[in-house]
Amino acid sequence: MYLQPLVDRTGTVVGAEALARWQRPDGTMVMPADFIETLENSGLIHRLDMYIWELAVKQLSEWKDTERSRLTISVNMSARDFYSIEVYDVLTKLTEKYGVDSSRLRLEITETALLVEPEKSNDVISRLRGKGFLVEVDDFGKGYSSLSMLKNIQADVLKIDMNFLREIKDRERSRIILQSVISLAESLGMDVITEGVETESQLKELSEMGCSHFQGYYFSKPIPVEEFEMKY
Ligand code: C2E
Ligand code: CA
Ligand code: CA
Repeated sequence: MYLQPLVDRTGTVVGAEALARWQRPDGTMVMPADFIETLENSGLIHRLDMYIWELAVKQLSEWKDTERSRLTISVNMSARDFYSIEVYDVLTKLTEKYGVDSSRLRLEITETALLVEPEKSNDVISRLRGKGFLVEVDDFGKGYSSLSMLKNIQADVLKIDMNFLREIKDRERSRIILQSVISLAESLGMDVITEGVETESQLKELSEMGCSHFQGYYFSKPIPVEEFEMKY
């Protein structure tokens, strides 16, 4: 598990996203792009996800009585998890086992995952939120049905990916889209995280647009836990 800091408007680190890294015995690193899809297609992704969720909850329990007690950790979920395991039971058992407050754990679900079995995922999500977990819509805007997803799913946070805006050549167009999505999220009572923030000017522009939280190489790449603890 690597951690990438989540930063608020004042520059304070308020949490981290847990991202999987596969270290080979010779020390070389395999990135998620080279194994997540295979795990999804072979029906094994829930094994990795449950492993990372447990590491994250364990980490939160270690931080409980330290200066890091207020930090949250965001974990990723695959659409497949909803078929393979009882997501609600697994997560509530984990937080109980380690005595961690569920509000410390942010659950990142992509809009595509939410569309696979909308009724089932909607039900699980509302139960998870009822239990105090924070639910984030990951990669918002990357798919094709973002608006209908927003209509149906109640989540706490909208996570916008800068990368999909990078493909737009016209900067003014990008800006208008971002501004509108941020306002829309605000009106729906959701917090906004922008990920993929790489430059100071992006940060400044996004702050002015009302974005409250940021993630990206501008602050830090995902790093090993020990390094995270040394830095933040
Ligand atoms: P994601 O959830 O959207 O995670 C963000 C990805 O963007 C990470 O890639 C991160 O390293 C990268 N990133 C962060 N800041 C920047 C930036 O400023 N610029 C650019 N260009 N990239 C940035 P990573 O770690 O390679 O993960 C890729 C994807 O693999 C993740 O995308 C997520 O969908 C998936 N993934 C990673 N770990 C897990 C896991 O434990 N379970 C599941 N189901 N999926 C995972
Ligand atoms: Ca994510
Ligand atoms: Ca994302």
